[in-house]
Amino acid sequence: DEDVIGFATLPDQVHRKAVRRGFDFTLMVVGESGLGKSTLVSSLFLTDLYKDKKTPDVEDKISKTVEIEKKYMEIEEKGVKLRLTIVDTPGFNDAVNANECWKPVAGYIDQQFEQYFKDESGLNRRNIKDHRVHCCLYFISPYGHGLRQVDIEFMKQLHHKVNIVPIIAKADTLTTKEIHNLKLKILEEVEKHKIEIYEFPECDSDEDEEFKQQDTDLKSAIPFAVIGSNTVLEVNGKKVRGRMYPWGIVEVDNPIHCDFGKLRQMLISTHMQDLKDVTRDIHYENFRAINLADKMK
Ligand code: GDP
Ligand code: MG
Repeated sequence: DEDVIGFATLPDQVHRKAVRRGFDFTLMVVGESGLGKSTLVSSLFLTDLYKDKKTPDVEDKISKTVEIEKKYMEIEEKGVKLRLTIVDTPGFNDAVNANECWKPVAGYIDQQFEQYFKDESGLNRRNIKDHRVHCCLYFISPYGHGLRQVDIEFMKQLHHKVNIVPIIAKADTLTTKEIHNLKLKILEEVEKHKIEIYEFPECDSDEDEEFKQQDTDLKSAIPFAVIGSNTVLEVNGKKVRGRMYPWGIVEVDNPIHCDFGKLRQMLISTHMQDLKDVTRDIHYENFRAINLADKMK
């Protein structure tokens, strides 16, 4: 018998260890108040995250600037643990100075980098909790005719700090043709204003045809047009999340009705690790370089 050292299982071990430790993921939602941000994240993670929240009274609304709200939850599925943080940035358009409303959001992202940077140079480097923001869903109004000035400004201020995934909110208020046209318009403006949204990685050439097709479908749906709902309805004997109208039911997770399923698939099943990798390798490295240069001055 040949002697076996046994390191062939190393990749498995690393993998298993990573799985046992679990994964950190932080998702931020940004956009005008009332576009369905809270509803959408609840729909994504099958929970009503905001059910305890009282509706703000009038006074509250007037005095509101940007307050950033964090929700944390641990989800376990098939032995895989996900530590999920949702960063909600309520109603930025209520802020007195709409031109500056990106500042606290950018500040929040920087703070998380700063904390990570400190932890990384500290004694307990092995068990750093990663609170860096891995993805920012940017909600675009379905009522406008593309990006507004505030959207352009906001995304440009954030695009070197975080992966921006633009989405069209409340897609049930638009016809199929209107959605198509709005998508084209938004992509055109993104390019014109040199906004760097999250770039989906090239699909590996050795993936199977089905995966490649899925990848193509995903990319061609950007910016995802989504619908959110916290109401569970029954359609053909099946329980689905949807919105009931006098003329029928819109199903959140029906690919004919909207891109919610694609967004969820991308965020959770296929691109979560890439969003984390890009955050670590590009956005965080950016921050580190600037931060170190500042410290050496
Ligand atoms: P937020 O201020 O962006 O967090 O918005 P909310 O999630 O609180 O939603 C504001 C209102 O819009 C609520 O009455 C929701 O029921 C409604 N809403 C949420 N998502 C959708 C959607 O996809 N379509 C429609 N038509 N209404 C929605
Ligand atoms: Mg909200």
